[in-house]
This record gives sequence, structure tokens and C-alpha cells, in this order.
Amino acid sequence: MSNGVTKKRVAIFGSTGSIGRQALEVIDANPGLFSVEVLTGQSNEDLLIRQALHFKPDVVVIGDDKKYPKVKDALAAHPIKVFGGEQAIEEVAAMDNYDIMLAAIVGFAGLRPTLRAIDNGKAVALANKETLVVAGDIVMKKALEQRAPIIPVDSEHSAIFQCLVGETRSRIEKIVLTASGGPFLGKKPNFLVNVKRDHALQHPNWSMGAKITIDSATLMNKGLEMIEAKWLFNLQPDQVQVVIHPQSIIHSMIQFEDGSIKAQMGLPDMKLPIQYALAFPRRIPNNFPRYDFRKPGTLTFEEPDVKTFRNLTLATDALFKGGNLPCILNAANEIAVFAFLRNRIGFLDMTDLVERTMQQVPFIEHPTLDEYFESDGEAREFAASLIKL
Ligand code: NAD
Ligand code: MG
Repeated sequence: MSNGVTKKRVAIFGSTGSIGRQALEVIDANPGLFSVEVLTGQSNEDLLIRQALHFKPDVVVIGDDKKYPKVKDALAAHPIKVFGGEQAIEEVAAMDNYDIMLAAIVGFAGLRPTLRAIDNGKAVALANKETLVVAGDIVMKKALEQRAPIIPVDSEHSAIFQCLVGETRSRIEKIVLTASGGPFLGKKPNFLVNVKRDHALQHPNWSMGAKITIDSATLMNKGLEMIEAKWLFNLQPDQVQVVIHPQSIIHSMIQFEDGSIKAQMGLPDMKLPIQYALAFPRRIPNNFPRYDFRKPGTLTFEEPDVKTFRNLTLATDALFKGGNLPCILNAANEIAVFAFLRNRIGFLDMTDLVERTMQQVPFIEHPTLDEYFESDGEAREFAASLIKL
């Protein structure tokens, strides 16, 4: 589709979020290559309306039903179909008006629309890592059956994906996922116990949505990414290693069977992996700032402190045991982050909540999709009961 004649038709699910907005910047800079056909947002109706007026998509969906009349009215003078509600988001994913979905909804809510896109045989540029954490086996199997390419947007996974180009005959020995360490790198529990929401929301290298920013501070993000990597690249759990690299210049690395290591590097800017996923298999030019090796600077690496950041241990446990455990971990974590963002629980309580929920919800080794949904529900209910949400 990107042959220079036909534009790639893009559907952005979660267009009002951090990834969604940056994707629209990329598309705006490349009007000859892409058209926007679908925009969905949950609650920021004003931004969604502005985006729709600018990009003139075929369809707009506002997840929050109450805001539907306002969006509908604002776009009434244009040939744009407007829908409202959670169900509509899923149904639009089954439409044929687009070539590639950018899955940029946050959390478990992204799973169903993404599955619909895959069932629909559409390519998916996947930012929503929770989709693979929750039901990676089912998602990847469906994608294979439907020949629906899944192209990672997460910077680490984009790095691995880029390093794999041209490597069809070489085998991966292991992958090294880099982690910035977040704003509390080097801190100990006696410090973390007092950390508040506003401090945790300040990430040193990346500006992102609230949920992933907290996940980065607790290192749960890297835990989720280990599981995401396992499914994307068909790896054994022991092939996934995490290393702290505070400068976020190396976005991740592959070590091949012969010991050779390939890394993908660049300044930390999500627009690059977003652009790469949307334009794949092409690389397209841009004028983002470049990393300059001549400027003084050091790239450093260290082992993660898993005794302090126990989320990484919990996620490693879920990665190795598999079954519905990653789904339970994810659900409990979503509740924990939600509660922390509302100042209902402390920073370290988030890990305890996840751990207790993982111990409570029954383990299923080979869950069906319905069982994943049930485990998600059970885990949320139990985690919420612990903090009386
Ligand atoms: P965000 O909170 O900024 O945006 C989330 C988007 O999802 C918004 O458009 C919102 O309206 C929509 N949304 C929220 N709840 C919804 C629901 N229940 N139903 C339907 N839509 C809903 O999040 P973000 O930072 O853009 O992250 C999006 C996804 O991308 C996450 O899974 C995150 O882990 C992943 N990701 C983000 C970054 C980043 O830099 N922001 C980097 C890598 C991966
Ligand atoms: Mg990442």
C-alpha cells in the first residue's frame, strides 16, 4: 500500500492519548503516505473533535456514551460517521475502511478491539502491550492464522524488530531489554514508601500516559515488556534479559547464536518507533533530533535491583509460569495503579496488591479466551476488595 501511489489508511485506536497524538504528528508530516480513517478516544471529546476536524476520518468513536451527542453535533457538517460506546470501538475495528490499526488504547480495554482487527486480517501496529501480556498465545495464534502482521510500537520491541531485519537464518540466543530505571533508580524501600503520585509521574527520559509512567517508576513496565517480548518473538522465558541503561539511547539488543550483538539506538522519542511501525517495511525520512556520539556522554549499564523493585520478580514469575498468571498480574496492576493515582494506596502497596492477587486467583495452565476474561474480572474484583475501592 505504501508504493507511493496509494496511501496507507490508518485507524488510530486511542488517538487522544500520548501515543495516539504522536502518531497523528507523524501522519501530519507525511500526508502523501498516510490517511487517517478511524479515530477513537475515551473521554477527551474536545481533543477528539479537533483531531477529526483536522484529519477528516471516515469514522470517529467516543468511548464515553455521555459525550456522544456533543461529538456528533460538532462533526455534523462533515461526512464523518460518529459512534459512541465501548461496543462501537470494537465494531469499528471490524470495518474494512482501513489497512493498519494503531493499537494505542491503554490497558486491558485494548484487547477486544485488537482481536477484532486481527480477525479482520488487518495489520496491527501494537503499542498496547497489555494485549499480549493478557492473552499473548491467543493473539499471536490468531495473527498467524489470519496472516495479520503485528508490528511492535513499544520502543524496546521496535528495536528488536528492527535488529531482526535481514536475520531470517540466524537464531536469537537472547534479547536484552533496556530499562531506564525510571525516576527512582537507586532508591531503596525506605524512600519509596513515601513516594507520592506527582513525583512518580515525572519520568526522566520519556513523556507518556499516566499508567505507563507509573509502571515505569515501579518497573512493572519492564515486567510487562518481558512478557510482551516472549510472545512477539516466540522466545523461551530464559531468553529474555533486562538491563538498566539510564540514558535510554540503546533501545534494546539481540544476541545471536554466534555471540554477535545487534542494538538499535537513537534519542528517546516515541515518534520514531511509531513512524517505523506505520511505514514498515519502508524507512521514511524525518527531522527529529539526532544522537551525536561526539558530544560528551557515557552509556552505562547495570543489573536491575529486583529486591527493591519486586514487580520485576513478580513479572518474571508470571513469565515463567505462564497460563493465566500474566493476565492476573496485569489486572491487579491496573487496579493498583488506578488506586495509586488517586492517592488511595502507597507506592510499595502496589506490588503487595499484585502479589496477593497472584496468590489468590486460581491458576489455569491453558486458558481459553473466555477464561482470560474471567481471570481478569476475578483479579480486578479481588484486588479492589483489598483496598475497598
Ligand atoms: P494514554 O493514557 O495517554 O492514552 C490512552 C488512550 O486510550 C486514550 O486515547 C484514551 O482515550 C484511550 N482509552 C483509555 N481508556 C479506554 C477504554 N476503557 N476504552 C477505550 N479507550 C480507552 O496512554 P499512552 O501512554 O498513549 O499508552 C497507550 C498504550 O501504549 C499503553 O498500552 C502503553 O503501555 C503503550 N505504550 C505507550 C508508550 C508511551 O510513550 N506513551 C510507550 C510504549 C508503549
Ligand atoms: Mg517500552
